[in-house]
Amino acid sequence: MTTVSRTTVNGGVSFWYAQSGRPAPRDPLPGDTTVDVCIVGGGYTGLWTAYYLKKALPSLRITVLEQQFCGYGASGRNGGWLYNGIAGRGRYARLHGHDAAAALQHAMNRTVDEVVQVAAAEGIEAEIHQGGVLEVAYTPAQLARLLAFHAQEVGFGEHDRQLLSAAESAQRIKVAGTLGGTWTPHGARIHPVKLLQGLASVVERLGVVVHESTAVTEIGPRRAVTPHGTVRADYVLRCTEGFTASVRGQKRTWLPMNSSMVVTEPLPPEVWDEIGWQGRETLGDMAHAYMYAQRTADDRIAIGGRGVPYRFGSRVDNDGRTQAATIAALRELLVRFFPAAAGAAIDHAWSGVLGVPRDWCAAVELDRSTGLGSAGGYVGSGVATANLAARTLRDLIRLDSGEGRATELTALPWVNHPVRRWEPEPFRWIGVHGLYAVYRGADRRELSGARASTDWAARLADRVSGR
Ligand SMILES: Cc1cc2nc3c(=O)[nH]c(=O)nc-3n(C[C@H](O)[C@H](O)[C@H](O)COP(=O)(O)OP(=O)(O)OC[C@H]3O[C@@H](n4cnc5c(N)ncnc54)[C@H](O)[C@@H]3O)c2cc1C
Repeated sequence: MTTVSRTTVNGGVSFWYAQSGRPAPRDPLPGDTTVDVCIVGGGYTGLWTAYYLKKALPSLRITVLEQQFCGYGASGRNGGWLYNGIAGRGRYARLHGHDAAAALQHAMNRTVDEVVQVAAAEGIEAEIHQGGVLEVAYTPAQLARLLAFHAQEVGFGEHDRQLLSAAESAQRIKVAGTLGGTWTPHGARIHPVKLLQGLASVVERLGVVVHESTAVTEIGPRRAVTPHGTVRADYVLRCTEGFTASVRGQKRTWLPMNSSMVVTEPLPPEVWDEIGWQGRETLGDMAHAYMYAQRTADDRIAIGGRGVPYRFGSRVDNDGRTQAATIAALRELLVRFFPAAAGAAIDHAWSGVLGVPRDWCAAVELDRSTGLGSAGGYVGSGVATANLAARTLRDLIRLDSGEGRATELTALPWVNHPVRRWEPEPFRWIGVHGLYAVYRGADRRELSGARASTDWAARLADRVSGR
């Protein structure tokens, strides 16, 4: 039985903030004002949208309103996987055809390079390493899913993806008990907060006004209401992801799903000799309640997973604090994956929320009659997706305002995708907790069994939940 180190910091938003510190707070909104575009939320989605709009139309007056500080949400807490995954591709293929979904996937593949290139061009130093993404299987059932997943990704045009034997996979990263892996070049390791803070500085340099400590309580046609005043704008864009339930009328739009992380102390060379990981790939597995990890620039392992999936009434965590049981479970996972890291102290643990739509499909929308727009519902893959969403919002606004034409981005199948709302409580809580209890049980059974097929309960849960 592993224990939580007494020196583990819990919360404080995230380890990434503990490491890079917080810049001086930006002023709250001083009072009523009128601009061209008002963006609610200072995460990747809001800031990338401000960036691309200002670059395209420099005379636009753009204001970003952030309830706490830029990067307070998932953008300042994530696992640093900048990769090409997008939530909902399978459903988009069923609704709009394979080619439309493949176009979305191609756009995502290019997005990883776009972020890397813009960061370089704008002088954002975010510890980016383009080592790709390695996903591994360590049970026969996971291996069957991995093979199916690999074939599916190749079917969506990823011909540069490689299927790896157990030995080839372990040559990249030695995960105990690996049975096989799949590697794609379309991914990079990043330092989430360095990217976020760099981006925030760049948009301010471009002339975007960012107000922090300014919570928007209500969004309506051409206005965003805050306790400090109302911002009137031709376009009001909701970029609030996992916090969306805090805006009036949005309680059941996206469910705030928790994800938690721990990070070790820097590991010595002997441990890295055992583990490998020279390519700094981001690492994931094929479990139902999956994990994700990265090797940081200063040689720590940051590893994340689900923990307690959801808080009753769509509540969010307290500045990133997570449960002791979740920290212990993540540490156990770390040691199971990397026995050589068994002695490592856990320096920091934290959690955050991500937005989950009822049909698990990320989407971008702009209502031309009200000027209201939004982007999000990325489930667990928003680091790159937020950039594609931002460029899509830019193109939709240019089209709507007569400053541009329809583009390949405005034609993507996730644009203006309608989705039903989540069930009211207590059904929401019961449903999500039930779902993850099933997934955890299925993972346990798959781990102890030799069956090469996915646990029946997990298959049923996927079907019922629409995941
Ligand atoms: C622990 C964790 C690990 C993750 N790991 C990965 C990963 O490795 N790779 C990946 O692709 N994705 C990952 N994700 C998801 C990814 O981080 C998010 O999808 C992405 O950051 C979303 O960006 P965003 O700007 O849309 O939302 P956020 O970053 O959550 O930003 C929303 C912002 O809006 C502000 N806000 C909310 N409500 C209001 C309001 N009413 N008024 C004003 N401001 C408001 C919030 O304070 C916040 O700053 C992870 C998420 C978590 C929580």
